[in-house]
Amino acid sequence: MNHARISLCAHPRSDNGPCRPILRSVLKHPDAAECGSGTSPTGWDKMAPRCNCFFALLLVALTGCWSENELAQQIKRVKAGGTHEIIVRDFPVSDADLPELFALAQLQALEIYQANISNEGLQGIANLQQLRRLRIEHSAVDDVGVQALCRLQYLEVLNLPHAVFSDAGLSELAKLPHLALLRFGSPRVTDRGMIAVAKMPELRFLHLLHVPITDRGLEALHGMRQLESFYLDGGSTSDQGLSDLLEALPELHFHKDQLHWDGDPRAGHE
Ligand SMILES: [Zn+2]
Repeated sequence: MNHARISLCAHPRSDNGPCRPILRSVLKHPDAAECGSGTSPTGWDKMAPRCNCFFALLLVALTGCWSENELAQQIKRVKAGGTHEIIVRDFPVSDADLPELFALAQLQALEIYQANISNEGLQGIANLQQLRRLRIEHSAVDDVGVQALCRLQYLEVLNLPHAVFSDAGLSELAKLPHLALLRFGSPRVTDRGMIAVAKMPELRFLHLLHVPITDRGLEALHGMRQLESFYLDGGSTSDQGLSDLLEALPELHFHKDQLHWDGDPRAGHE
């Protein structure tokens, strides 16, 4: 069976924050570029660019403040029992922001899209024993950090797109008994790591982001009958290796570099 042809997939990328393009457009506005000109405008026409620049900067400042307030509001809502999840898209979260979160023992989902969190911070997050879903972007989670997260025994969804853990760290993650979705990027994981992934009994969704696996890594996945979706971005696999995988798992919903492969049973999904 030849799966070598690919077609466009309308499946949306899940890692695009909604506010970033708006901020970029403000910063790139042509009026903003004139602010550093050093000229002395005398009329409203010449003042307009400077005013626009002022409002653009004000908008950027207000956006930042709003995001920070949003984080505080979410923490407040969890404390009040209104929700069990926190999703922080725009506010950059560092270790200094975490102590308030550590008190939320009932938290079940934590998603931080702009995180600068150390292993010490991850140790604190690992005390949130009710977590089912965890997403930490832009933090280089290493083997020590992974070791901490492995204390989250109820974890079902783990998303670490900018990690740097090794095969050893992945082997620890693979022991999480209820993990159903694993999405990660790490330049240090190899084909050997896929052997550990293949042993995860409840894993149904796997997304690898620029993990340098080869066809040998794909071979390790051939027996994963329970795997429903596999998204592979980057890597060092060949068309033949991918075709072999899809022959072994003909029901697999598969994307390569955001594209569908022909023959995908779910190629028509939105
Ligand atoms: Zn798809």
